[in-house]
Formats: sequence, C-alpha cells, structure tokens
Amino acid sequence: MPTVNKVLIVGGGIGGLSSGIALAKNGCSVTIAELHKEFNVYGVGIIQPANALRALDALGLAEEALRRGSPYGMVKMCTAAGHVFTEVGVPSIGRLPSHNGISRRILHEILYEEAVKQGVVFRMGTSVAAIENKGEEVSVQFTDDSTGTYDLLIGADGINSKVRSLVFGNYKPRYTNESVWRYPFKRLPELETGYMFMGRHSKAGLIPMTADTMYMFLVTSEGEDNPFIPEHELVPRMRAWLGEYSAPMIKKVVDEITDPKKVVYRPLEVLFVPAPWYENRVVLIGDAVHATIPQLGQGAGLALEDSIVLAELLQKESEVEEALHKFMDRRLARCKMVVDTSVQLGELEQLDWKGRLPEGTNLGAIIGKASAAMMQPI
Ligand SMILES: Cc1cc2nc3c(=O)[nH]c(=O)nc-3n(C[C@H](O)[C@H](O)[C@H](O)COP(=O)(O)OP(=O)(O)OC[C@H]3O[C@@H](n4cnc5c(N)ncnc54)[C@H](O)[C@@H]3O)c2cc1C
Repeated sequence: MPTVNKVLIVGGGIGGLSSGIALAKNGCSVTIAELHKEFNVYGVGIIQPANALRALDALGLAEEALRRGSPYGMVKMCTAAGHVFTEVGVPSIGRLPSHNGISRRILHEILYEEAVKQGVVFRMGTSVAAIENKGEEVSVQFTDDSTGTYDLLIGADGINSKVRSLVFGNYKPRYTNESVWRYPFKRLPELETGYMFMGRHSKAGLIPMTADTMYMFLVTSEGEDNPFIPEHELVPRMRAWLGEYSAPMIKKVVDEITDPKKVVYRPLEVLFVPAPWYENRVVLIGDAVHATIPQLGQGAGLALEDSIVLAELLQKESEVEEALHKFMDRRLARCKMVVDTSVQLGELEQLDWKGRLPEGTNLGAIIGKASAAMMQPI
C-alpha cells in the first residue's frame, strides 16, 4: 500500500465496517467515526444473497455469517393464497448458498468484532463538521472540535451522508411511495426457504433468520404524502394489510403480531449519485452514493462489494486517483442496475396494486435477470 496509509471512515454501518476490515487487513491504520455513541442497529433481519456472501467470504466472515444466520435456497414466489408459481433469487455461487437470512444486529456484531480484531479504532458519538480536501491529504474538523489529517476519507455514512453534502453537493433521497413493515416470529417448521407472496394490494414475505426464528416483510403503498404512522396504529394497520392473504403460513402468524415495539416500519427511499464518486482524497461508498430499495435484497451486498473492490484497488494501484477512478468504473454500472431495477420493480408492483400492470409483465423474469447479473464477478 504505497500511497494510502492513514484512513478515516465516516459511518460504522455495513459499508464502513467492511471497508475498515479490508483496509486494516491491507496494513492501513483505520479510524471509524460513528455518529451514535453506541451502536443500536435497527431493523429485524436482512437477506444476504450469494454475492453478498461472496464479499463476506473475501473478508473471511462468510462461515460465521452462515453459522449465526440461516442459509436457504431460491425464494418461492407465491400467490396470496400460497400457490408457488416460480422461484427467484441469486443462485448459489460455489460452496456459498443462494441466500442467508440473518439478524441485522448479528451481522453488525460479526463485522464489528472483526474490525476490532484488525485494530480499527472507533470514535463513537463523533462526526465530521468540516472537510478540507486539497493536495495529497484531507484535513478534518470533527464535531467535538478535534482535528485530524488523513491520506483518504471514505464517506460510508448512509443515505443522508454528511460527507456527501460537505464535499459533493446537495443530493436528496427520493421517497418511492412504498413502505416496508417487518416483524420477527418463531420460525414455522415448514419454512424451508424464503417465501414471497404477491397480494392484490401489497407484497409479503417470510424469511428464515436462524434455525428457530424468521421475520416477515410486508411492502405497501401508504400514499404519496408519506404519512407518519403513530405507534398505536402499527399493529392494527399491519394486520389489516395482511387480511388479503389466505396462504396458510401467513394466516398462522398474523395473530402473533401484537407488540407495536416489534413492528419496524420504514418508508422506502432511493438515491443515486452520478459520477464522480470521489474528489481528490474523499470517496463515497454504500448507501451514501447508491441507496436502493429492498426489492432485490441487494443494498448491503453492494456496500460489502464496494469495500472489497476499493481495498483491492488501493493496494494494487500506485496512484490514489487512479485507484478511486477504477473503483468508480468497476462499481457504477452494477450499482445503477440494482437501483434502477429495484425502482422499476417497485413501480410495477404499485401499478399491479392499482390493477394497471401492463399485460405480459413478468416480475419474476425481471428479478431473475438482475439476480443472474449479480453472480458475475465484481
Ligand atoms: C427496509 C429496508 C430493508 C432492507 N433490506 C435489505 C436486505 O434484506 N438485504 C440487503 O442487502 N440490504 C437491505 N437493505 C439495504 C441495506 O440496509 C443498506 O443498503 C445498507 O445498510 C447500507 O450500508 P451502509 O453502511 O452504506 O449504510 P448504513 O447501514 O446506513 O450505515 C451508515 C452508518 O453511518 C452512521 N452515520 C450516519 N450519519 C453519520 C454522520 N454524519 N457521521 C458519522 N456517522 C454517521 C450511521 O449511524 C450508520 O452506522 C434494506 C434497506 C431498508 C431501508
């Protein structure tokens, strides 16, 4: 690693932790500045398709993720009544299964523990207040008024990235008119893989998380005004949406949705920053530069892949600018395809719910094409 030694990563999510691990393994001295004083990973489970597992494997963490998650095969796409009509998803890659379902918190723990092991230093409760990005280094003023100088700053601070607004300008996420509801359950014994149920007004899914647990996702359209849903309405509204499903697996668990604190509701937003993704010694990765919606289950996988490619190029290239340019070149089309296809699927779902899906549209085929592309080497 001739040109980059001291690296600051802003954001300790999936992208920040994985790039921290990859760069520390390459011999860099890495600091992660994380906004929150303590990690409080929100959410329920996360789908890791085979390409995300391949990226974790490059960090030496795939086995641990599989051990602490639940590997499963292709996703069965069903009618609301539970009749399977096709299977979708990223096929298995080598020894890695088609998918792994895992608790978000556990995935974060696996990455965090490895980052600590690799010597990554954490500055919790800290962000960047100002960035001076000139010459062969980048100088930072932190929110606690301390300062630092680095060879490279990686903005991995998610969809509302502060690094992006300080260095790249004013890009705002776009609300897609869709929201997702999630809820954890004891696993049904018959859930042998992931399931997706296509309703007339919504889409639901059941995803294994461990041998004993699973979670449900439910995608709905709550309207263009993106309403705030108060806590006392979460349970009745989620259950009301599920009324249209007669699939036995859904019917078996609906009555278990009782605790509003366990309902994780989130409006879905997208963002794609056009080239360039770097300026001098600052580069963006993950949701900070390409935030997608979960229609392909690929957001975290893309952040992991970004980290692998960036670390590989920073080690290989002797010029930082060349490494950052090649990073963007290798990642841009793939990430854009995921964001565009996910948005397209979201729009088609919404047309379907209005009874206006163009004749001949095959959502399974669109997912299949994108998933096959994700098997390609990065
Ligand atoms: C409802 C939903 C379901 C999803 N399901 C899946 C799925 O099944 N599979 C999948 O692969 N992806 C999924 N995704 C996408 C996935 O969660 C993201 O793509 C992924 O978390 C991106 O990682 P990241 O590190 O770039 O950003 P984040 O995970 O958002 O991490 C950003 C980190 O930066 C910190 N931060 C924020 N601002 C600052 C600041 N100013 N200074 C310092 N730190 C800061 C945050 O606290 C956080 O720790 C889903 C997304 C949503 C919304």
